[in-house]
Amino acid sequence: MKKEDLKFIKDFAEMAYEAYLMGWHERNGGNMSYRMEESEAENASFLYDENAPWQKLDISVPGLANEYFLVTGSGKYFKNMIKDPEDTLCILQISEKGDSFRILWGLCNGGRPTSELASHLLNHEVKKRVTNGRYRIMYHAHPENVIALSFVLPCDEKVFTQKLWEMMPECPLTFPEGLGVVPFMEAGSIELGRATSEKMKDYNAVVWTHHGLFVSGDTFDEAFGLFHTVEKASSILVKVMSMYHGDGSLLQLM
Ligand SMILES: [Zn+2]
Repeated sequence: MKKEDLKFIKDFAEMAYEAYLMGWHERNGGNMSYRMEESEAENASFLYDENAPWQKLDISVPGLANEYFLVTGSGKYFKNMIKDPEDTLCILQISEKGDSFRILWGLCNGGRPTSELASHLLNHEVKKRVTNGRYRIMYHAHPENVIALSFVLPCDEKVFTQKLWEMMPECPLTFPEGLGVVPFMEAGSIELGRATSEKMKDYNAVVWTHHGLFVSGDTFDEAFGLFHTVEKASSILVKVMSMYHGDGSLLQLM
């Protein structure tokens, strides 16, 4: 077995690159995590540093005890993940009590897992429970139209959901449960992680007001597709709204 044969690392890095090409990852923006299957964790074990030290988490996630994750590194660029996964990604193991982690592989030039690690783990814990282990991906980025709308629409998930559903027939099919919305909170804070994970009980996509979008999925394609659909519907809504005057009348261009 070689690292290149590990499909989940390849799939992860490919999605990261596609998302970068979509313009959702300026500089080192965004983060992603994947809860590995048991067989994947076993197959990757030849990579592991078994002496890696345990590090305390600021949260406790007993529902993720002994799980393995592939996670983006803090400050790493999505565009580089496909060409240098060892430098930009890491495989983490969660302790038996769910209160610590250790880095078994990756971040070969030093560094830490994403600053949103607490958010990712809290959301994984909820989603693993409510989907009976089916959902494995958490993904966050900064799509410009979703962010722009969060400055204009009220911080209200009914409004967000209804407005975006109206934009494309694809929307109610892709997110029939609607969208969650949380108010602006400090990036990387446990408060933001907890608020998002509350929403993840009911939704697969949560708008972070004035910041971005956080989605979950069972496969990389599903997570990417959901994110793409929400951002595309948002871009249509931004265009439609920009064609109206302040009094609600349509701009006459001809
Ligand atoms: Zn962010």
